[in-house]
Amino acid sequence: MEQITLIIEDLNHLREMLASDEICTHSAVAGTILVQLYTARNEGAWLQAVAVEIEKALPAVVVGVTTVGEIAGGSSLSGKTVAAFSFFRSSQADPIILSCRPGEELMVGRSLAHKIERLGVNVKGMLLLATPLSINVHYVLRGMAESSLCFPVFGGGAGDYASMNISFVSYGSTSLSGGIVAVVLSGPELHVEQLACLGWKPLSKEMTITSTDGMLVKSIDGKPAFSIYQYYLGISNDDTFSVSAIEFPLLLQREDECLARIPVAVEKDGALRFLADINTGEKVRLGYGNPEMIIDDSKRAQQRMESFVPEAIFLYSCGTRRFLMQEDVELETGPFEKIAPTAGFYTYGEFCGTSNNLSLLNGNLVVVGLREGPPRQRKRTVTAADTIIADPVPNDPYAHKHMKIIARLLHFIEVVTTELEHSNSELARLSVTDKLTQLYNRLKLDEMLTRELCRAKRYGSKFSIILCDIDYFKSVNDLYGHQVGDKVLVEFAKVLKNNLRKSDVLGRWGGEEFLIIMPENGIEEAEMLADKLCKRISEHEFPVVKQVTCSFGIAAYQTGDTEDTLLARADKALYEAKQGGRNRIMLYMVL
Ligand code: GH3
Ligand code: MG
Ligand code: MG
Repeated sequence: MEQITLIIEDLNHLREMLASDEICTHSAVAGTILVQLYTARNEGAWLQAVAVEIEKALPAVVVGVTTVGEIAGGSSLSGKTVAAFSFFRSSQADPIILSCRPGEELMVGRSLAHKIERLGVNVKGMLLLATPLSINVHYVLRGMAESSLCFPVFGGGAGDYASMNISFVSYGSTSLSGGIVAVVLSGPELHVEQLACLGWKPLSKEMTITSTDGMLVKSIDGKPAFSIYQYYLGISNDDTFSVSAIEFPLLLQREDECLARIPVAVEKDGALRFLADINTGEKVRLGYGNPEMIIDDSKRAQQRMESFVPEAIFLYSCGTRRFLMQEDVELETGPFEKIAPTAGFYTYGEFCGTSNNLSLLNGNLVVVGLREGPPRQRKRTVTAADTIIADPVPNDPYAHKHMKIIARLLHFIEVVTTELEHSNSELARLSVTDKLTQLYNRLKLDEMLTRELCRAKRYGSKFSIILCDIDYFKSVNDLYGHQVGDKVLVEFAKVLKNNLRKSDVLGRWGGEEFLIIMPENGIEEAEMLADKLCKRISEHEFPVVKQVTCSFGIAAYQTGDTEDTLLARADKALYEAKQGGRNRIMLYMVL
């Protein structure tokens, strides 16, 4: 195949170029001609006029899409109309155009699959263009995935430079502000290679999506979704929201894949509107593009493409990448032109995957290579793009300053966030830990006791508590000093801990008194445990004092209990154990 990219100034200019030798020579030997139009002019009529003009001159399948930036010769352009001509030798390009109104998406997806099946060709790949501003493309993809078809799909969502209101796709003299255009590629010699690069980095702490409604995320961590953009980024809820938020997608992890989701609008109630799906319960973080990762990822993509040896490369790159990288965005698009003629556009969402498992992506660069026949290394003629790729001054320390600053700041935020997360969790741990014994403190024990009571009340489950107090501890202090007393307490705590199960809760109730909560266990099990502990303590050799004993008071939960009534029974039992001579267990049995 041969690939030629034109930048169209106006229709007269287009006519002249269509009559050029280059176009005529290629079209004379081509079996199929596919033209992809990428235009900043957000008018269906313009796409139609250009297509009609091309169709007059050539037997071409002409599809088009409105953009937020065009790519030609590896360079990123603004406000242009680009026509990417693919002259296939032996492959076939079957166009399908389907209009779609909100609510019809699933049906349109099924209808697309049906039409592809009816073509009866061996599909090698499909270009898909859609209007995500007016329809929920996610459901179109779901509809298509219901069929048994499986082939690679690539392409993107039509963009709108101005207002994020309306965008267009077209085939020939038909354009749609709601619908999809697909081009089914087939042919015995056709090879398709596709991959997606992301390169975004989480900035914030992890948050949970707490409520959604279709493509609306209503709340995050129980607060209106918008408020996280206001709180962390100072972005206001006004007309500028989508432009301000565009570089800060929500990042979520699905299986092994990191996905970005970019909010396009904020509703009056603070819900955020997305073009791609996010589900309730999913964990997200605010993210930002890391230029170093972006460049590294695109280098890997270039290597993959180099070894595939394509004859044409198409880039469907998320509009956010331009916002983020500014003029440096050509560092990722430019090098592809060295491998094969490269064209594409900046999207409102990208497609990359197989027809039975496809989602609308955000924030990605989708790279597609096409080739007819076996790999053939061809000498590339140098284009304007090559001058962009080369550094103006080798090793210029000031080159790509914008990206270097972002990369450093991102690193800074990451380190500070990690530090804060560590100190927060350490503070949380300390607030519930007894300093001397490192067991839970009274605060935590109170909380656990309340939790167990609630559970028991709600589910009718049983549980018991054991209060345990060291015998004659005062005399340990008196005889050996406070420091020895402390050592004994630490050792005592260890012995208790080593003889409990994971599900038992142990803490220091105060002084030389400890509390054990045994979820799901009645008085008999508590008695068995206390027996064991009593024995282990009396057998244990403690530092300096050697032998220590203690007394136990046990109570089990019964209907109507509060924390106070339950503890009072255990306390009473403990008192009786002391009265009874110490080094023993008493149960408070309710008759
Ligand atoms: P009983 O068998 O009746 O429980 O006698 P006891 O001596 O253990 O009880 P009492 O309540 O009279 O004394 C408890 C002692 O525990 C008094 C207090 O100084 C000591 N104590 C409490 N907390 C600590 C501590 O953190 N370190 C040390 N070394 N001693 C402590
Ligand atoms: Mg005591
Ligand atoms: Mg005591």
